[in-house]
Amino acid sequence: MMEQQNTTVALEETEIQELVSHMRGELLRPGDADFEQACRVYNAMINKRPALIAHCMDVADVIAAVNFAREHELTLAVRGGGHSGPGLGTCDDGLVIDLSGMKGIRVDPSARTARVEGGCTWGEVDHATHAFGLATPSGFISTTGVGGLTLGGGTGYLSRTLGLTIDNLLGVDMVLADGSFVTASAQEHADLFWAVRGGGGNFGVATSFLFQLHPISTVYGGPMLWPLEQAADVMKFWRDFILNAPEEINGWFAFITVPPAPPFPEQFHLQKMCAIVWCYSGALEQADALFQPIRASVPPTVDFAGPIPWPVLQSLFDALYPPGLQWYWKTDFFKDLSEKAIDLHVKYSAQLPTMHSTMHIYPINGAAHRASTSDTAFSFRDANFSEVIVGVDPDPANNERMIGWARDYWMALHPYSAGGGYINMMMDEGTDNVKAAYRDNYDRLAQIKATYDPSNLFHVNQNITPSR
Ligand SMILES: Cc1cc2nc3c(=O)[nH]c(=O)nc-3n(C[C@H](O)[C@H](O)[C@H](O)COP(=O)(O)OP(=O)(O)OC[C@H]3O[C@@H](n4cnc5c(N)ncnc54)[C@H](O)[C@@H]3O)c2cc1C
Repeated sequence: MMEQQNTTVALEETEIQELVSHMRGELLRPGDADFEQACRVYNAMINKRPALIAHCMDVADVIAAVNFAREHELTLAVRGGGHSGPGLGTCDDGLVIDLSGMKGIRVDPSARTARVEGGCTWGEVDHATHAFGLATPSGFISTTGVGGLTLGGGTGYLSRTLGLTIDNLLGVDMVLADGSFVTASAQEHADLFWAVRGGGGNFGVATSFLFQLHPISTVYGGPMLWPLEQAADVMKFWRDFILNAPEEINGWFAFITVPPAPPFPEQFHLQKMCAIVWCYSGALEQADALFQPIRASVPPTVDFAGPIPWPVLQSLFDALYPPGLQWYWKTDFFKDLSEKAIDLHVKYSAQLPTMHSTMHIYPINGAAHRASTSDTAFSFRDANFSEVIVGVDPDPANNERMIGWARDYWMALHPYSAGGGYINMMMDEGTDNVKAAYRDNYDRLAQIKATYDPSNLFHVNQNITPSR
């Protein structure tokens, strides 16, 4: 993340009142009743204090706030759902554009599209579209913001079936660094549309997104669990299965500690186990037959898979991961999972440092491979797996231990990786890792950045340096 703007600027009261007069939403400052609450982001490890938080209600508010930040040379952060691991939805001393007041969603059931404002979470989108028996690919936790997840790519339960979230994005309304408003789509500002499909928040504030919807209503999914002693066998089975499975079947692999609560059977509470969390979105009457060979090959110890409404599957783990926990994560893409890599996974899974800490591998083959490495800014279309190693705990006293575990685990596996990670699951790791995430697409991103944001106003993100 590059800090190119001034971070502390003495603002005159008259200047602040000028911004207030241009906004329909509230402008919060230290001392205001709601300010402390508004400073908080999802990851409690992040503790930043902006000078101003602009609670935007519409595009006009966003334009006013962008112009104000640029004219006063303030550090500018943009917050969608606030889920960024490194806290890229906030900043110290500068101005935060908080989009959480922009919640409009309009579903067009005949065109099967949804226009979604920049402050929505995926749970809100699911709620709106499920009423029409429709959905679009998103992630795994319904409280995640549409903004950050989409702009970074979006890997989730439907990646193998319908591609990444960006593969279902038809257009984006944006406020640019100069305060102008544009729509980016295949027809308009096609270069910008290419860049925002994976390039993160580098190019402007996305005030709304237009998504393609699909007839997804009740799917067949949920977790299956096995003891850790079977992890190598389950992982090998899953690798071979998911590389060749019909595209309607998605299933991500996880190492977990079983939460000490229903519906998990008591005898497994707090045991480390491995899991596959399934989502089959094909014909429900064929589901049992499709899952029979899975159940026969590696019979699960606990089996929750069955018919489940899409929004329920999407929010299954929300309660386990409420806002306010400490988070630290590391990521890599993989083309394959070698025997040696599996041995290392088994080794580090036995050391899961806290109950919430976990490791996930999401399959991103199938429909996600229909786009080439250069069709969108998201570069790793030739990878089959996206790995995230996550240290999570309520108690900051455990941070050192869980960060150490995540780093050691990542370092051990990195030599087997495709060479870069998913920008949405990186911490603040510097330019080299951002470049590694974009590979050959980085130079084109830097050129488009130079066109739309030459002074790098939008730099509180996985930053792309504008080319000179
Ligand atoms: C519990 C959890 C589960 C997750 N699961 C998944 C998953 O299944 N799949 C997946 O792909 N990712 C997942 N992620 C990662 C997630 O995609 C990123 O953390 C993402 O950045 C969150 O977006 P946000 O809008 O909530 O975050 P924010 O912190 O608000 O923003 C993150 C970044 O995006 C920018 N941004 C956000 N909204 C806008 C906007 N409207 N216009 C311009 N810039 C914007 C911000 O400036 C910032 O740089 C998960 C994260 C968490 C914490």
